[in-house]
Amino acid sequence: MRKFYIVILTVLLMLTAATYAQATPTVIVNGSSLAFDVSPTIENGRTLVPLRTIFEALGATVQWDDKTNTVTAAKSGTEIKLTIGGQASKNGQTVNLDVPAKVIDGRTMVPLRFVGEAMGCQVSWDGDTQTISIVSNIAGTGGNNIEVHYINVGQADAIYISLADHNDILIDAGNVADGLTVVNYLTSRKVDDIELLIATHPHEDHIGGLPAVLDAFRVEKILDSGKTADSGIYKEYAAKAKAEGAEWIQDNRQTYTFGNTVLQVFTGPETWQDTNDYSVVCRLDTGDIEFLFTGDAEGPAEAALAGDLSVEILKVGHHGSRTSSSAAFLSKIKPEVAVISVGTGNKYGHPAPETLQRLKDAGITIYRTDINRTLIIMTDGKTYSVAGERRGPFERPEPQIPPQIQPQVQPAPEPVQTPATEGKYVGSLKSNKYHNPNCRYATSIAPENVVWFKDKAAAQAAGYEACKVCNP
Ligand SMILES: [Zn+2]
Ligand SMILES: [Zn+2]
Repeated sequence: MRKFYIVILTVLLMLTAATYAQATPTVIVNGSSLAFDVSPTIENGRTLVPLRTIFEALGATVQWDDKTNTVTAAKSGTEIKLTIGGQASKNGQTVNLDVPAKVIDGRTMVPLRFVGEAMGCQVSWDGDTQTISIVSNIAGTGGNNIEVHYINVGQADAIYISLADHNDILIDAGNVADGLTVVNYLTSRKVDDIELLIATHPHEDHIGGLPAVLDAFRVEKILDSGKTADSGIYKEYAAKAKAEGAEWIQDNRQTYTFGNTVLQVFTGPETWQDTNDYSVVCRLDTGDIEFLFTGDAEGPAEAALAGDLSVEILKVGHHGSRTSSSAAFLSKIKPEVAVISVGTGNKYGHPAPETLQRLKDAGITIYRTDINRTLIIMTDGKTYSVAGERRGPFERPEPQIPPQIQPQVQPAPEPVQTPATEGKYVGSLKSNKYHNPNCRYATSIAPENVVWFKDKAAAQAAGYEACKVCNP
């Protein structure tokens, strides 16, 4: 099975102050950089992009009406119309645009943020890197499609899992000060209620935001470690959990099934010295893709976990502390991707250089909420993609980035010379389309991402589909 993920830590270092002035914005859709035949342009602070490229990337069908100079794009029940130089509408409702669609160099250019948001995507702009990132909401479309959101709450944890059929899971909700951030994030993702709320352990950076969440949403089930604390925040959480009238359960190796997705709890009523080791540890399985969530579990709790724990994606325990993620644990679970939920410049020195080194030694790709901010991992149960709100680390690495991660923020290696004779068709490591070598999308593939296929069968066997532009 071909799996792909986007190595977002190795790019964007070549931007200099000089290029900023006339910088062309980079457009990233679901973690992949889009190639355009006409460069995106910024007008009055709005990014305009060629309409066909963006609508195709978002999976919408496009129709053009010559008489009215109007383009209509449709996707799963949403229809948007844009008139050159005029108004736009979504499902018949007029929307006023500060910058309308226009023709530049013979190409129809449309305002990217309007298009993305009208299509129900999350659109974010990173001024430092001149990057606009669009993440489409693929969950809720049925089948195995799910999304796991590692919400940026600084030195804390908050993970939202969006499953098919409006099933929503929340694992922790950050510090007290993050409560509203988490509530607003869930509201923006159209969360109606929470089917399963997991409070991993009673430390403030995990349960702090839960009272606000319990106030804002109806919660069906609350699962926690059963470990109590004397703190004010624990008492408030417990009072709200009780008042919620939800089923309130202690972890005991339960299994929850949501359609094709299974959440398995690996922890139970053990007793530990350290509160962190009480953390609820659970795994989400959908098709071939598995995610492990560890709260703040440290060495002793990791060592006690039994059974088949192999996963593709690991939420690194205890914000990347030295006392979690032992080499033995990593070799047992064999993740491809690690997500560290951690705050910039935190007083604990998380993530620990030793932990980053262990992850690197195990060949694991590291994403961090202090660098990439909110991270969304999408999967259809066969492959997965990682989209960061920010591609980071920037042209000026922030001083608190430990030296151990430096090799990852160096400019990309010298492009590999790829002879043009290696195959008949060409693809990119960062997309699933194959092309004729002279297709404009083929020629824009960065040399280090080029893959050649000797024939169509080889391309298809590798999980690639024919480009709709060059029809190879
Ligand atoms: Zn913590
Ligand atoms: Zn903790």
